[in-house]
This record gives sequence, structure tokens and C-alpha cells, in this order.
Amino acid sequence: MQKGYLLAPGPTPIPPRVLQAMSASIIHHRVPAFEALMAEVREGLKVVFQTDREVLIFTTSCTGAMEGAVSNFLSREDKAICLRAGHFGERWAEILMSYGVIPVNVDAKYGDPIPAGAVAEALQKNPDAKAVYMQASETSTGVTLPVREIAALVRKRPGTILVVDAITALGVFPLHTDEWGVDVVIGGSQKGLMLPPGLAFAAVSEKGWRMFEASNLPRYYFDYRKELHAVRKNQTAFTPAVSLIAGLKEALRMIRDEGLENVFARHDRCARATRAAMQAIGLSLFATASPSSSVTAVKVPDGIEGGKIVDTLRDKHGITIAGGQGSMKGKIFRIAHLGYVDKFDVITAVAAVEMTLKGLGHPVTFGKGVAAAMNILES
Ligand SMILES: *Cc1c(COP(=O)(O)O)cnc(C)c1O
Repeated sequence: MQKGYLLAPGPTPIPPRVLQAMSASIIHHRVPAFEALMAEVREGLKVVFQTDREVLIFTTSCTGAMEGAVSNFLSREDKAICLRAGHFGERWAEILMSYGVIPVNVDAKYGDPIPAGAVAEALQKNPDAKAVYMQASETSTGVTLPVREIAALVRKRPGTILVVDAITALGVFPLHTDEWGVDVVIGGSQKGLMLPPGLAFAAVSEKGWRMFEASNLPRYYFDYRKELHAVRKNQTAFTPAVSLIAGLKEALRMIRDEGLENVFARHDRCARATRAAMQAIGLSLFATASPSSSVTAVKVPDGIEGGKIVDTLRDKHGITIAGGQGSMKGKIFRIAHLGYVDKFDVITAVAAVEMTLKGLGHPVTFGKGVAAAMNILES
């Protein structure tokens, strides 16, 4: 027997009580029982999004809600500033271009964050930019971007909105949607929310809804206003993934019971332990400035084929982590500490990396990384 562990930055492990909730008989979505379920989910999502706004629910992978965050707010040939610190920033640029929007890209070297100053400069040079698109946590490199500072810049401009893909930030580290004035916040089910893939979310500010009125891009399934009208009646515009919403209720209860601050502290602790462990093993971190609490990206040491680490962890030890995406393929591996993850998941991952590296002929002293992790997890 080999026991499996899912430690990739999405999909993430599902808590047993969430699995159980999802296995209940299906209910119809236009009945009072579903509306009661939605009423609870609606309030719970506001807690995780740190907002008083309605949180829209879409049955889609996260990219569907990202696409909607372009098609609902902009018009053809609008200009939008696009922060590209990795694979998911590039996805924003691709969506913008496919709708005929002109992206003004602000790029970072992979592994680096993008300073707010670079965005201030881009805004100054492009006073007609209608929006700024960014990630709170760029999952492909393991770096966080300064949402709060960028929100302060965009707030001053009545004709520009800030759109944040917070898919690996929600339920991981603080993102004060209302307080900071983030106009559109996008989330997804299969990361910090401890659910299978299939749901995506969006919260929109007043300024965002004003931009909606002025926008003329085509939209149908991802029409945000249709979902706003529906959610106000504890409904969704189309047939939702009812089982996922049943699971979401349970996941949100777990977050509420633990307390959002404690959820953040747990992620922070697991992230610090993972980073310390990798360095104790003698490996280098890919994101040295502003590393994310959701995932740790580690450079593949010289002399080892990058894909071998991920494959060996999976095939020999039953542990699924992630390799690098795009041009980072083979150069980094990524260990998630995201969602339903606690200290012994970190220990498991670190021990398995030690075993894997040794197996691949890399000099490793067993226990060095594990000890470094334990010191942080128990301090
Ligand atoms: C996982 C992730 C996505 C995922 O999008 P899918 O459409 O669900 O594959 C988008 N953005 C970020 C930052 C992510 O981590």
C-alpha cells in the first residue's frame, strides 16, 4: 500500500466533513432548502473575502471568473495595466488580448515581486488605463504582490479599477477587500477553500459596478450582474454545482470555527517551516522577497533533472507536489501548504524531499530539514 498526499497548489486536500457534506443526496436548486444553504454560504463567503459586498458564485474553474472580470468591466480597445510576475499574470494579459483590450504589461523576473512604484509609474504614463489586473499571490513562482499599496494608488483614480486574482490568497493571508478598496476580488474553490475544483467567486465594489455600466464587451454566462441579482435572492443564475455548494457550507463553517486570524497564522507557520526546511537541506528558495504563505517554490539543485524530483515524490512516495510552469519547468518544484494542511503535512513533505534528493544522488543528511521545520512549528 502507498498512502497518497496531495500537496500541490491546487487542487488541495478535502477535509472529511466536507467530503461527507458533498456526498449527500442532491437537492433541487430552486427549492427553499437550497436557498437556506445559499443564505449561509453567502454570509460565510463575506467573512473569507473580508467584505460586506455580495460574493458572486460561478460554476466554473477560476479562469471563468477571471474572464468575467475582463468582459464585465472593459470595452474594446480600452487600456489595462497588467502585472506579470508569472504564469497567472500572463493569463490576465491573454484574456485581455482575446477581448481586444490593450494590455500595458508591468513585468517582473520570475520569482520577484512587482513593487508598487512600478505600477505608479505605469499609471502615470497611462492616465487612460481603465483597470489594473494582478495576482495577490502568484502561484507559479510563490511570490506575493503588494495589493494594499497598489490599491492605495488606484483608489485615487475614479476611472480605474483594481482587479485582484486572490485565488491563493483567500483563506491564506489577509486581503482587506473593503478597507483597502480592492474593486474586484476573484476566488476559487480548489485552493484555500478546501473544495474540489468547480466553483469560482467574485466580489465587486460600487466603482466596479459603475464601470460595468460603461462596458460593452460581450458576455453571457459570466455576466456578473445576472449573478448579483440571483445571489441577492439566495440563488444562482444557472444550475450551480449543488454538491460543491453543500461542501462549501461545511468548509466555511470550519474556517469560521477556527477563526480567520488563526487560519492565516497556521498558513504563515507552515510556510515559514517549509522555507526554513528547504534552506536547511541546502536548497535555495525561488522567491526570496515576499514569499507566499500558500506555496513554496524551490530551485532544483544543479545536477538533478527537475522533473525527476516531482515524479519520484509521486511515484515512490505517493506525494503530489507541483513542478514549474512554462519556462520554469524543470527549474523549480513547488510545495503547497494551502487549505486543509497542518504541521504534519509539512513534516511529511520535507521528509519526502530529503528521501527523494538522497535517492537521486544529492548529498543530504536525513533530518536536517525536518528538524528546522519542527523548530518553527513548535515555537
Ligand atoms: C490555481 C490558480 C488559478 C486557477 O485557475 P483554474 O481556471 O481553476 O485552473 C488562477 N490563478 C491563480 C493565482 C491560481 O493559483
